[in-house]
Amino acid sequence: MSKFIYNFSEGNKDMRDLLGGKGANLAEMTHLGLPVPHGFTITTEACHAYQRTLSLSSDLLTQLDASIAQLSQETGKQFDSHDNTLLISVRSGAAISMPGMMDTILNIGLNDQTVKALAQTTNNERFAYDSYRRLLAMFGNVVYGLDEAAFDQVLTDIKRKNGYASDLELTAEDLKQVVTEFKEIYQTSDKGNFPQDPKTQLLAAINAVFESWNNHRAQVYRKQNHISENLGTGVNVQEMVFGNAGENSGTGVAFTRNPATGEKALFGEYLLNAQGEDVVSGVRTPQDVGVLKTEMPALYDQLAETAEKLETHYQDMQDLEFTIEKGKMFLLQARDGKRTAYAAVKIAVDQVNEGLITKKQALLRIEPDAISAMLHPEFDKEALAAHQILTTGLPASPGAATGQVYFTAADAKQASEAGHPVVLLRQDTSPEDIDGMIVSQAIVTSRGGMTSHAAVVSRGMGATGVVGAHELNVDYQAKEAKVKQQIIHEGDWVSVNGTTGDLYLGQIKTTEVTVKGDLSVLLEWAKEYSRMGVYTNADTPKDFQKALDYDADGIGLTRTEHMFFKPERLVQMRRLILAEDAEGRKDPLAKLLQMQQGDFYELYKLAEHKEVTIRLLDPPLHEFLPHDEKEVAEVSEQTGISTSKIKERVSSLKELNPMLGHRGDRLAVTFPDIYEMQVQAIMTAALKLANEGLKVAPHIMIPLTDSKIEMAWVRELVVNQIDQATKAAGVTLDYTVGTMMEMPRACVTADQVAEESDFFSFGTNDLTQLTFGYSRDDVGSFMPEYIKKGLLPADPFQTVDTEGVGALMKIAIDKGRQTKPQLPIGVCGEVGGDPASIEFFEQIGVTYVSCSPYRVPVARLAAAQAHLRQAGAETPALAAKTA
Ligand code: ADP
Ligand code: MG
Ligand code: MG
Repeated sequence: MSKFIYNFSEGNKDMRDLLGGKGANLAEMTHLGLPVPHGFTITTEACHAYQRTLSLSSDLLTQLDASIAQLSQETGKQFDSHDNTLLISVRSGAAISMPGMMDTILNIGLNDQTVKALAQTTNNERFAYDSYRRLLAMFGNVVYGLDEAAFDQVLTDIKRKNGYASDLELTAEDLKQVVTEFKEIYQTSDKGNFPQDPKTQLLAAINAVFESWNNHRAQVYRKQNHISENLGTGVNVQEMVFGNAGENSGTGVAFTRNPATGEKALFGEYLLNAQGEDVVSGVRTPQDVGVLKTEMPALYDQLAETAEKLETHYQDMQDLEFTIEKGKMFLLQARDGKRTAYAAVKIAVDQVNEGLITKKQALLRIEPDAISAMLHPEFDKEALAAHQILTTGLPASPGAATGQVYFTAADAKQASEAGHPVVLLRQDTSPEDIDGMIVSQAIVTSRGGMTSHAAVVSRGMGATGVVGAHELNVDYQAKEAKVKQQIIHEGDWVSVNGTTGDLYLGQIKTTEVTVKGDLSVLLEWAKEYSRMGVYTNADTPKDFQKALDYDADGIGLTRTEHMFFKPERLVQMRRLILAEDAEGRKDPLAKLLQMQQGDFYELYKLAEHKEVTIRLLDPPLHEFLPHDEKEVAEVSEQTGISTSKIKERVSSLKELNPMLGHRGDRLAVTFPDIYEMQVQAIMTAALKLANEGLKVAPHIMIPLTDSKIEMAWVRELVVNQIDQATKAAGVTLDYTVGTMMEMPRACVTADQVAEESDFFSFGTNDLTQLTFGYSRDDVGSFMPEYIKKGLLPADPFQTVDTEGVGALMKIAIDKGRQTKPQLPIGVCGEVGGDPASIEFFEQIGVTYVSCSPYRVPVARLAAAQAHLRQAGAETPALAAKTA
């Protein structure tokens, strides 16, 4: 008989797969001697067994009886007892924390009899009925699927009738009335009465937790966070302690460091005379834990001490849930705290400096994609100064965002699908809103605190978040929000500053941010611990400068075609293409040479001694030609060539499949003078810099190569130009000529191609296009379906397809290095900045990746992590950890 249940005294923190994170940590805290109410955990294996049969096995039921008997002994309490009744919570918890996604039921064991007993033994009728009404609502909603709103309505009505502002004013008599009305909700449903027997309640609750593993919001959350469907959840059964037992009781959450800024200080919120979800649901606005220091100093000290102890023990920032019952503190949960990217970086760097963790641990702890959030824009200072703050809430998740207001998750989702940037504005949010939250640039609520659902989720997603902006009066019916004299309608533009909590009407321009402080320290460590280089794709000095600010190792790809699309150059390019013969091409070529050498000069100069790899012209010629009558007329005017001549030339250059057509090095074969001009421009720039004392080694890359013989032909053309230039100048320069690896044929003959190449650089966009036979520009019509139906794990243009495209890459690398063991190999396609792809590139021996400037820090960290994991460094931290 497998063991399906572990008492808290039996488990430990390393058993999260079996016990779930919550159960494993409750056991660990029990061992640490912290005040954790007694209880036990039903394993995830029991959940699997349930998913197979959709019922609780007889083995489990037998073990459950034994565990309840043990719990009775530990607590000295019994189900259905008149003087010492056992009340318990049933709490879900998977291996990876899924905040708010699964369901928890409190106060199980109460019924019409025990509620009276509880009132009597505690001498607190209000408390007893408050607990009972909570059980009725939670059980009804979670187990029987009764509408939460129906229960809320009863509370709202009775408060309105009596003119109460808060739940706290409800009297014992009111609560009895609430209980009666709640029971009527059961009676009028098709589910029947609330079960009075505690054991029946318990079994139904366990069933419901196992069922909740498959509820819609849990599924959405898992999908969003790439959490496996096969994990399953544990169920924790735990003695209740009561934060709603009066004014010297309460419940709260605390972080050992500030989850928004990373600052080292106890951070959190609590509510007196409250239970469970009250703090996070936003029904009442909680107090800052700082206030506890004056209200209950001894408890504050105990909490601070516990926080310190747990952080040292877990070697990471912790998120704690605690309850105070009549002046006594209990711990109900500890887990690694979710945090903003900004806080994650600061905490990791601080903890290294404090000697708590190693640099390697710090590097493995930050999710690479999360730091791209830190590189997001802020509001432009000047533009901001021109706007008046409309209202201010709590700064729940930093960043700056502008978008159009929507009031429901469904409307937000629809607007986003229609291409609108969305700001979701609500009184508060709940797990049901997850679909709408995912698509929002910013989330704003009028209620709730820094640990409310909206706050936690926006931090988790890296969305800008402002909560508790209580001047906002949200009217869902009218789809508008009032603040002061202003009305915000659906679709209105607002701007949200998650760093300050400020809200503005209208759109505000944003500015770029730079890497500084802790992030630059972390990225230095990343460089220290990585094997692969991180280069950038840059065509302009501005892009390159951005990448240099992010400490790129150089340029892995300059696409020269972008330089030809500036209007004054496009004219020359068109004259070139339209010319009848070599003679006619001379003048435009000379003009282009002049302009192009300036481009290269600027890039080389910025690079100083860093490598710059320049790719010669790649796109189909027809892209440069005019496409309609109006453009033809313009070109005719600019070039003096007749419109009929132009049309004739355009139609002769027309191709059915331009991406498979007259482009890349095929242009060199038909129009050698274009590549010659480009090499001359490169050399002129390099020689000019040599004169100025900066020795540049040109790296020239040939696109679309498919064979050794073709590469040899182009290489000779390039080398001839280099030789002529250096001879004329009487100097020598180092240079390399390499191949873009983007044709499957080149990959499989890479041993030969390498004979003519000084380096390879994978153009994964074309390589993916040609390997799948997917037109890059047309995949939108079917790719989403493929991903939805699980026929593709991800878009292979975003994350390398390791099985197919990756196999070709591996062949090319192995063959290339048979010929030249030291052959440098880069990746300069889209996937060069994708962390999952970078992990693969580390494994197959890629030398460097090259990506857009904004991805450079992400790629750097991913490269370090890939290397550390490969080298078998410390176990990687869970990806889910970074918010
Ligand atoms: P979640 O995973 O959504 O955080 P929990 O299982 O942690 O759900 O339960 C939510 C809250 O319910 C806890 O933070 C705590 O305040 C309260 N709670 C759970 N179990 C108990 C208990 N045994 N005694 C008192 N409060 C409890
Ligand atoms: Mg919890
Ligand atoms: Mg290409």
